[in-house]
Amino acid sequence: MKRKRYSRKSSAERGYGGRWQKARAAWLKAHPLCEMCRDQGITTAATLVDHIEPHRGDQELFWRRDNWQSLCAPCHNSHKQRMEKSGYVLGCGVNGLPLDRNHHWHGGSKTNTNSD
Ligand SMILES: [Zn+2]
Repeated sequence: MKRKRYSRKSSAERGYGGRWQKARAAWLKAHPLCEMCRDQGITTAATLVDHIEPHRGDQELFWRRDNWQSLCAPCHNSHKQRMEKSGYVLGCGVNGLPLDRNHHWHGGSKTNTNSD
């Protein structure tokens, strides 16, 4: 299922439009508990869907369900804060390269196709 027809991207098409609201609601219905709390043996209702790897406007990454996780607001905040502190996504991909595409190992190219 590939849809790459948008030559111009509205803010909705970047992700946070009606399509996301619907997908998000459906996801939370199917995954109602915070995954980070669950890892600690705590049961907390999730209130939002987080992207495990920041999508940075990457549509493919944005919609990849295996990149989604249900979180409660406190977990989401601490997760994001930790990420911002290090500046990089923690962990590496299967090829051994950092998951973060802005990491200098990826050649330092700062191509931002999503800039206005
Ligand atoms: Zn939580």
